Amino acid sequence: MAIKKEIDQSVIDGFKATLRGDLLTPGDPGYDDSRTIWNAMIDRKPALIARCLGVADVVACVNFARDNELLLSIKGGGHNISGLAVCDGGLMIDMSLMRGVWVDHKTNTVHAQAGCLLGDVDRETQLYGKAAVLGFVSNTGIAGLTLGGGFGYLTRRFGWTTDNLVSIEMITADGHIVQASEKENPDLFWGLRGGGGNFGVVTKFEYKLHPVGPEIVGGVIAWKGEDAADVLELYRTLSEQAPPELTCVVLLRPAPPAPWLPKEIHGKPIAALLVCYSGTIEEGEKLVAPIKAFGSPVGDIIQRRPYIALQNLLDGTQPKGRRYYWKSEYFSGHDPLMLKKFEEHGSYIKSPHSAIILFQLDGALNKIPDDHSPVGNRNTKTVLNITASWESPEDDQENIEWARSAWQDMRQFSTGGTYLNFLTEEEVGNRLQDAWGKNYDRLVEIKTKWDPENFFRMNKNIPPR
Ligand SMILES: Cc1cc2nc3c(=O)[nH]c(=O)nc-3n(C[C@H](O)[C@H](O)[C@H](O)COP(=O)(O)OP(=O)(O)OC[C@H]3O[C@@H](n4cnc5c(N)ncnc54)[C@H](O)[C@@H]3O)c2cc1C
Repeated sequence: MAIKKEIDQSVIDGFKATLRGDLLTPGDPGYDDSRTIWNAMIDRKPALIARCLGVADVVACVNFARDNELLLSIKGGGHNISGLAVCDGGLMIDMSLMRGVWVDHKTNTVHAQAGCLLGDVDRETQLYGKAAVLGFVSNTGIAGLTLGGGFGYLTRRFGWTTDNLVSIEMITADGHIVQASEKENPDLFWGLRGGGGNFGVVTKFEYKLHPVGPEIVGGVIAWKGEDAADVLELYRTLSEQAPPELTCVVLLRPAPPAPWLPKEIHGKPIAALLVCYSGTIEEGEKLVAPIKAFGSPVGDIIQRRPYIALQNLLDGTQPKGRRYYWKSEYFSGHDPLMLKKFEEHGSYIKSPHSAIILFQLDGALNKIPDDHSPVGNRNTKTVLNITASWESPEDDQENIEWARSAWQDMRQFSTGGTYLNFLTEEEVGNRLQDAWGKNYDRLVEIKTKWDPENFFRMNKNIPPR
């Protein structure tokens, strides 16, 4: 693969010599592993991949790409559905070797390098019985998740991931290291709390910690698909009545071949609830008892368990290398007709790996003003995610069509907002304003100040003025 703009080999060799990490070109061992991401629908080939080992490598990459007019992309955990972490023909910064984590128990924060996966951070913070507000799947990257907003089992108590950010270290387009926090560069800090990767390469995040674990009550429980309407009603009641310590996610899908589900159920429709109670064990056991006693479950592994085990529970369900296509909307409540349509579209799923999911969100994030950070959407009570997942390119059309038609029918219940991190590649051009709402204009100002040439454009891009 040729570099888009011809660069002399000696210049590339000189660049390579300045790096501590490897510089890979097509054909090198590790090149394909690095450029392929979670979503196999994305197949781009950077001319160069820098596997950075430290901040100095990142600075060298930014300077090299800028001076040689190369397109630059940044890969954190490689889990974004739109695949913008990987560019064609340019330089890709692969952050996956920068996974240091330091807990500071005096300030009650954790510092994490931007290549970390969620599990890296949880592993270290749980030594102290603490947790940062991160997502539901431990092999997702913290960088993309955080820069786009971030939510998980602790969001009802503490808000978006970005509501819990304390500071960020970032490399600007001119190769300088800057710190951003409420006190230092507060405009940039505001923009980074949900504005995506628009302003620079983040090298480190600092998050507030909360006492959580090391054990919680949580897990998953499933009923037959024919019980879906009752399970959705249970979810609605829990969403309206549960304390913020209890978070539930409801999903409809064909049963995976998991050991906790009987063999005769595998491949048949199920309705499942994922549950986490992050307060005391005693209170948690009391609160989940009626869920466990509800109807006739076909499998139930809600129990006292390490918080880390809950965070790992879903890792195998959405492996790297399958084909994925998502559609998503925010809802401000649980309209009975919406739940009916949710059930209906769950019954049309085309692949054994697909699911239709509602993530419960209401709580702390609704109590913060909309302009606190760009992620906004403070009227959201639940997120719909229609997750088509399949294996063969021949099945692209029917799976994509299923997701699109379910979304077409259900978007009538939307707040009009959508989650930046769930946008597919085709939506990047037309739904960014929905994701950021009224906060978009302020993001344009910040982009114009920090990246006036739009050097960082391989992202959910905000063109500078
Ligand atoms: C299986 C799965 C589960 C998920 N669960 C959740 C969940 O529970 N909660 C939730 O909120 N989201 C969830 N998501 C969505 C997730 O937040 C996004 O996919 C997110 O972008 C993943 O981050 P990443 O670092 O892995 O992404 P990548 O694909 O590596 O990066 C995405 C984009 O982020 C930017 N970026 C990455 N690193 C940097 C950096 N160092 N500096 C500047 N910009 C950077 C770039 O623009 C890049 O294109 C999930 C996704 C998947 C696939």
